[in-house]
Amino acid sequence: MDLKAQEPLRLLGVRTDDGQRVQLRAQGPAAAQADGLTTGMRVELAGLWMHPEATPGLPKPQPYFMAGSIKASGGAAGAAPQPTVTRQQGSGAVAAAAGGGVKAIVIPIAGVASPGVACPGTTLPLTTVAAVKRAVFEESNPRGVTVGSTLNKCSYGITKLTSSSSFVAPLLNLPCNSTNNGVNWTFSKCDFDDFNGYAEAADEALRQRGVNLDAYKHRVYLLPPSQCGFVGLGYIGCDGSFDCRVWIGADVWATPAAIVHEIGHNLFLAHAGAVTSAGVFDDYADISGTMGYCCSDRCPNTPHAWQLGWVTMQQIDGTTIKPGQTLTFSVSSQAVSRQAGLRITLGNSSDPLFVGYRTKAGGDAAAPVDIAGLLSSITPGRLHLYTAAIANTFDPQPTDWKGSLGTLGSSWAHPTAGIVVRLKSINRTAAVVTLCRKAGPETPASCRAGLDNDCNGLAGDKDPACLKLRLLGRVRRRP
Ligand SMILES: [Zn+2]
Repeated sequence: MDLKAQEPLRLLGVRTDDGQRVQLRAQGPAAAQADGLTTGMRVELAGLWMHPEATPGLPKPQPYFMAGSIKASGGAAGAAPQPTVTRQQGSGAVAAAAGGGVKAIVIPIAGVASPGVACPGTTLPLTTVAAVKRAVFEESNPRGVTVGSTLNKCSYGITKLTSSSSFVAPLLNLPCNSTNNGVNWTFSKCDFDDFNGYAEAADEALRQRGVNLDAYKHRVYLLPPSQCGFVGLGYIGCDGSFDCRVWIGADVWATPAAIVHEIGHNLFLAHAGAVTSAGVFDDYADISGTMGYCCSDRCPNTPHAWQLGWVTMQQIDGTTIKPGQTLTFSVSSQAVSRQAGLRITLGNSSDPLFVGYRTKAGGDAAAPVDIAGLLSSITPGRLHLYTAAIANTFDPQPTDWKGSLGTLGSSWAHPTAGIVVRLKSINRTAAVVTLCRKAGPETPASCRAGLDNDCNGLAGDKDPACLKLRLLGRVRRRP
């Protein structure tokens, strides 16, 4: 399913001090200022209220606020811990955005004119509440893939979602239109005020039934078939002072990957992107992680797992690798060990490089073969390469998938930093890789010193380039 076409890339909402939610659009300097925002920040806006003209016969458009400047303060970003910076195995841990677990209430919604009759613009839900429970809770579906099993397994129990602290509410029948906090909403269309209105109305109905909503930081609203074309929508980040909303489209109520993706946004993750064959960056095109396109079952990619504090990584200062030098590392499968992956800093001009190894085990047991390899002795897993500017747990920066290696001896070269990553061996638990810094063609001196100037994985007499130099008599045989 195509998430990109349906999930707006950037939709900003602010809540005023009197509780009203307002759609915000940004232009000029505000567009860049909006990039750094996460949910829960306090913002001061300068700009204009916009009231689009109504077209006869069409629903009245919603007013919105056009911001020319945004001044933000507070939010979780101010208190962000730095992720682990260590080369030691087993030490250090990132303060997880959801340490202690995800406490979510999942709220299936119908819009009904009268019992059994859907509102104009909607139909009755396609999925039963029982099926939603089986998609959400591991306890309701111990052998299947669920939201709970994905979070529990991929996080090594750090970000658990269980039926003891999360809740799937009974189907909630909302009226076809109403007003909450002074804002009108209707199922006849799906503007910002409408899907926020469904959430406000659902919250109110649940409170009236005695549900303690404050026990659930994450509110997952399951929308009936409606004018809302998106697969999902979620707040990027949330801190303690702000309820954290997610909306899930009618077709994917029982699709764990869709719900995990949106909860991932709540946990401060941006998207998992890649440059497509057309040469453009598509911020969903990394299939190796939950933050890419919906809907295969897999864990977050390695940089995102690290951002969440689910894995710790060997940290390498790539600028200290000398020209022609080769370093060897063992990279554990992300599904097998919390000590997984490499993060290589490359100086100020390039984003850090991430190396992750994925096998079909743990939270990746159901992952497609192009993520986690074939379950065979020849290709038991795949090594993936990414760059990402993520600085800490609360830093929603996209990741950029650069490619993957599955055959022994294959390599990938960083286009500007001159670092070459080569796959030396793989098994079901770990891959052995080398990092080499390019220094140009082999020379008599590099051949004598056993360096690998061209980073082809061969040094000294084993490198045909060196043999050629020796046969040409330019390199004297050492005594
Ligand atoms: Zn998304």
